[in-house]
Amino acid sequence: MSKNKTQLNLLNKTLNIARNSKFYKSKLQGFPLELKNILELQNFPFTTKKELRDCYPFGALAVPINDVVELHTSSGTTGKAALSFLTKEDLKNSSKAIAKAWKCFGITKSSRVQFMMSYGLFSGATLNTYAIQELGGFVVPAGIQSAEKQIQMMLDFKIDTIVGTVGYYFYLFDYIKEKQIPLEQFSLKCGIMAGEIYSDKVRSEIERKFKIKIFDHYGLCEVNTGIAYECEFRTGLHFLDNYVLPEIIDPENGKVLPVDNEGELVLTTLKKNALPLIRYRTGDITSIKSGRCPCGRSSIRINRIKRRVDDIIFIKGIKIDPYELKEYLLEIAGDNIFSDIKIRVGNSFENYSPEILVSLKNPSSTNLLSVIQKTLKEKTLLTFDVKHISRDYFQRGENNKVKFVEYVDKK
Ligand SMILES: [Zn+2]
Repeated sequence: MSKNKTQLNLLNKTLNIARNSKFYKSKLQGFPLELKNILELQNFPFTTKKELRDCYPFGALAVPINDVVELHTSSGTTGKAALSFLTKEDLKNSSKAIAKAWKCFGITKSSRVQFMMSYGLFSGATLNTYAIQELGGFVVPAGIQSAEKQIQMMLDFKIDTIVGTVGYYFYLFDYIKEKQIPLEQFSLKCGIMAGEIYSDKVRSEIERKFKIKIFDHYGLCEVNTGIAYECEFRTGLHFLDNYVLPEIIDPENGKVLPVDNEGELVLTTLKKNALPLIRYRTGDITSIKSGRCPCGRSSIRINRIKRRVDDIIFIKGIKIDPYELKEYLLEIAGDNIFSDIKIRVGNSFENYSPEILVSLKNPSSTNLLSVIQKTLKEKTLLTFDVKHISRDYFQRGENNKVKFVEYVDKK
């Protein structure tokens, strides 16, 4: 069967199952019961995170609660969380699908993988662990531990693959350097960096530090973790497109954009029974890539996520992409600051100076702060109040992430 035909069958099955939920029963009223062509999906309404939260806890559940075997919730949300329920079959399908990504990263029965991300309600570590075990790989579910314990486990179990957020890689490296542990003692070959947006430049820096190859892996709790992955050529991320169907839309008017056009990623699940999602708006900005990947895989590819729709900050009328700002900062400061950085922006946009908090490796080199301020002004036209702050200030939250942009009430 052709891929399109398979996707269409799965899509029709999903639309059918979705209608078992109270939420989609009313939302999809009046829409066709069966599609003849995948493109007809473009006429269907979007699903938003807010809608999922509003029908908490069971409004979007499409199977009897007795069929559910696992629950995950999206991280970093306030108020009611968006949920993801899974049946036994959902778990099986998830492991099988995501295992494809891990196989591509080189994971085999002899691999040893350490997860430095939280387990519990967060789906990333748990569902990826099942996928690696599907391949017979050995997983150390380290979760959130001190750097000392993480490193001890890496050494004791001869871990070859580590999984964590970008900030945590930097943090770990600083610790290794501080304790003067020779890199040769590690068996590391590969790293997966997920859960945070980072540039190719930042990735190269971590690769250089750890002497390993880093792959990007994209997913989100509501749909599933790890649904798009990089192959050895790293020319975009391959989608598990028999598991989830991606579209790119203009976030302003909702129109579907052609390939190579940047917009918001929208996803429709193809193999989820408990909580299928139709045209779910991810808030992530990317584009679908044209052409074939040199690896020969025919799956849909997206570019690495650049930012989120709501990430752009407007300060005194100037549009700032915080990730770009972070790039500038690391470029200016080089190895003289720790990688944890915070931008503090006032909620009221008048009469305040946006602040940038950095942690200097040598606290007496305060002239670096004015160099950063001057260079940022040249690049962005904005005057940032650049301050040094003790490294202890940067509390690592869920999944070892430091909140990068902070909004404060400031007059
Ligand atoms: Zn490829």
